[in-house]
Amino acid sequence: MKKKCFFVILILASVWVSNLKAAGNKNLLPRPKLVVGIVIDQMRVDYLYRYYDRYGKDGFRRMLTHGAVCENNMMVHLPSYTAVGHSMLYTGTTPSINGIAGNNFVDQKTGRDLYCTADSLVKGVGSSSSAGCMSPRNLLASTITDELRLATNFRAKVISVSLKDRASILPGGHCPTGAYWFDASNASFITSTYYRATLPDWLVKFNNENHVRKLLTGMWNTLYPIETYVQSTADDSPYERPYLIGQRPVFPYSLDSLFVHKGAEIIKSLPAGNTLTTEVGIAALKGERLGCGDQTDFLAISYSSPDYIGHQFGPNAIETEDSYLRLDQDLAHLFAALDHQVGKGNYLVFLTADHGGANNLDFLKDHGFRVNNFDVRAIEKALKEGVKAKFGVDGLLRGISNYSVNINYEKVKENKVDLAALKDEVVALAEQQDGMAYAVDMQQIMTVPLPAVIREKAVNGYNRAHSGEVLLIPQPGWYETFGNAPVTGTTHGTWHPYDSHIPLLFMGWGIQPGHLYREVHAVDLAATLAALLHIQMPNGCIGVPIPEVISTKMK
Ligand code: ZN
Ligand code: ZN
Repeated sequence: MKKKCFFVILILASVWVSNLKAAGNKNLLPRPKLVVGIVIDQMRVDYLYRYYDRYGKDGFRRMLTHGAVCENNMMVHLPSYTAVGHSMLYTGTTPSINGIAGNNFVDQKTGRDLYCTADSLVKGVGSSSSAGCMSPRNLLASTITDELRLATNFRAKVISVSLKDRASILPGGHCPTGAYWFDASNASFITSTYYRATLPDWLVKFNNENHVRKLLTGMWNTLYPIETYVQSTADDSPYERPYLIGQRPVFPYSLDSLFVHKGAEIIKSLPAGNTLTTEVGIAALKGERLGCGDQTDFLAISYSSPDYIGHQFGPNAIETEDSYLRLDQDLAHLFAALDHQVGKGNYLVFLTADHGGANNLDFLKDHGFRVNNFDVRAIEKALKEGVKAKFGVDGLLRGISNYSVNINYEKVKENKVDLAALKDEVVALAEQQDGMAYAVDMQQIMTVPLPAVIREKAVNGYNRAHSGEVLLIPQPGWYETFGNAPVTGTTHGTWHPYDSHIPLLFMGWGIQPGHLYREVHAVDLAATLAALLHIQMPNGCIGVPIPEVISTKMK
């Protein structure tokens, strides 16, 4: 009898527990199953429309048609580089607060050059090369991915992938489930001991599948007949840099030959790099079962190849045009995998960029624009010689980086040089240089007659510990070169719209479709995600949610 009673109680108890679980599930706060963050390195906003006519319906157009599109999303900081952009997007704040003032930046106290994610205290996992000695330790603010982990008591999985270390590490934040990046030395995705001691099984399997060699087989030819690439300069152009010395930058490219000559590294500069990134993203999606639990997971994917291709060929190249048409197909493939595993409408995806890019200088010059090389070496020489002549001391300036002049404070102190007088001289000398719109002592910026937009970006981008004190602002269209020779491809780094007007699109769970034309700011992304997920904003966030993109219907 006692035994019978015990079993009855046991059965009742288990029914009660399972009812409780079911009730718990029914009462779950409505949230997306998964957030997918897509950052396309060097994607200017106009690429959404420049190639629109030949995008398929399942890639960029799916987001443009069914998503919320912020047509005027501006970055509010300088300088416009990859590490700065990625950390800004995910922290919702700028270098002044998050500390990431460049890809490389100078520690102003010691004069030491720091790489944004370098960390000598950690080792590579999956690689013995220096590519693995990386962590988010220099990032001073939390990311939206950190906040999701904190908000769910670390139950939410956060995975970040990219070819570039910084484009994976900075979005992943301080406590992701995993952050993985590409090491060309062993053609593998790797991580560091900051995160974990071994690679997850799904990634070991992926690395063993030899994707790089498979993708670098055959030819890269244009998707459509080459004469139909009406948005670009004819193929053999002086504004483009060939992959191999002695060759012309023209189609078709032999992928086998490029692999033989350049190794796995070359995949970064080819559309195949985007396919590889998509494949590792999908491997993470499946391997980690993202979007399949009770909590919201986060997959951050950053496409680095558009940046390498942009630097190599510039915006007016068939190579660039074709690579966007192919990236469109990669995105369609990614969305199909998300639909299959997580279900349409169950995930929230956003697409943005870390910065844009300029038109090639010589291309502009040949079309009548008043631009030229902003020759950093020549400017640096003029400044160094000028201050030496004035103050009689050598080495008062360390050099120029990230469009700012780094002062050697030790030398200044040692020689009792008046710092304010030194900076005045640097400003006066810099303003005499070709292509200089403004040179500004950052301590005086509130009194310099500058357009408010530029001042705000300069202040937001200035980090006392990591930025040079005198900021150099080039005229529109000019960009840094290292010498005065003709330049190929392009770059980015300034405040101008081509560098700072970037896409921002949302689609899926919780999103109100439509096109928004008022200006929003790239720092608003993290705040908007925090609002959608009902979690805390990142701890340095200066953005605000964009209410127009959020559906007010509670799911
Ligand atoms: Zn970039
Ligand atoms: Zn770049």
